[in-house]
Amino acid sequence: NYSMNYLDIIEKKKNNLTLTQQEINFMVEGYVKDEIPDYAMSAFLMAICINKMNYEETKFLTLSMLNSGVKYSFEGMQNVLDKHSTGGVSDTTTLIILPVMASLGYVFPKMSGRGLGFTGGTIDKLEVFENINLNLSETQFKDVLKKVGCAITAQTNTISLADKKMYALRDVSGTVDNLSLIASSIMSKKLAFLSDLLILDVKFGGGALMKTKTEAIKLAKTLVRLSKDFNHNTKAIISEMNNPLGHGIGCNLEVYDAIKVLKGEENNLSYVAKYICYLYLKHFENLNYNTAMEKIDQAIKSSKALNKLKLMVESEGGNSEVIFNEEKLLNYENQNILSNSCGYVCGIDAEKLAKIVVNMGGGRIKKEDKINFNVGVQILVEINQKVDLNTPLCKVFYKNPTQSLKNEILSCFKILNHKTKKNKLILKVIE
Ligand code: URA
Repeated sequence: NYSMNYLDIIEKKKNNLTLTQQEINFMVEGYVKDEIPDYAMSAFLMAICINKMNYEETKFLTLSMLNSGVKYSFEGMQNVLDKHSTGGVSDTTTLIILPVMASLGYVFPKMSGRGLGFTGGTIDKLEVFENINLNLSETQFKDVLKKVGCAITAQTNTISLADKKMYALRDVSGTVDNLSLIASSIMSKKLAFLSDLLILDVKFGGGALMKTKTEAIKLAKTLVRLSKDFNHNTKAIISEMNNPLGHGIGCNLEVYDAIKVLKGEENNLSYVAKYICYLYLKHFENLNYNTAMEKIDQAIKSSKALNKLKLMVESEGGNSEVIFNEEKLLNYENQNILSNSCGYVCGIDAEKLAKIVVNMGGGRIKKEDKINFNVGVQILVEINQKVDLNTPLCKVFYKNPTQSLKNEILSCFKILNHKTKKNKLILKVIE
């Protein structure tokens, strides 16, 4: 298009004007083809952050990004499910939801990511199973899916090429936290995956990308509206992420949490995972909450779900030994951290704890960093639990932790002389 150049388009957004579909396409296509340099694209992204995009512009951006990559379809398969979480701390619902739904006859192909910043990623956690191959070809992926009913692989380089490039640039140019950029990034990947129902877990709070309820609801509404405009079935839950969702932070400990839930443990993690399963059952089988829960609990009690996880791991070449011997995941040097006051546990700072675990080697600081699966923090107390002087609050899994590390961890526990008001974990469903 000879009448267009990227500088005019950047200037237009800088001047707070509305862009046309052609202009947005020009930027995305030009960037993917390396015709627009990083410095120009980062100026464009920054102009979007400052002056925002309206819904129509956001939709055009999503479409251009979606069209930059391939689509994955599951022809001949029915009741194909998908999910996405905007990222949390000790959030291992995928490793619970997939085997549960597969054991109930659903088809659950999942493309997952690695940890981003302080939030964990499913692909990193799955590597706890030695030798697992998470870079499956499309054929391998679909073979596992047909055999097991669920399959997980790493995001391929062929879905939303634009997002791959733009996200990396956003990460280093201070342009992550814009609603239109986040929404188009998420939906350009999820819309490329042709499922029958997508459930989004949009989190808010200290341990989430969206810090407030209002922002999370706004993002969820935009995501669901985009889905409708692209004829994709999507529902979103709004869930709180101030305290870690499970007990463990760190790969081994999070896999341990998921296995425990698949063996019947009930806690906040199981609540959110099962709630998402309920939404699938409600949509496809019109089940009410109690009937759906009975079905889900039966899948767990019968060990059918746990066996699905085992079969999936093995079908992807992984060693599944720890699934029936999960205590092995805790077989690493650890120490209790004791309370230095008495009172009630009123909060556990998910963001701060997660950052400590990243710095211990449990996450990545640079993209090339190798994660240490065996380090982490395992929380031993619940919100509003009464603790005394020297009550163990958590275990730190680390070789020779310094006093200053232990003090840092201790400072994540807010202990007051009264109980706190417990918020609802799932605030609402947007559909
Ligand atoms: N998750 C994504 O995939 N993209 C964003 O921009 C933010 C969270």
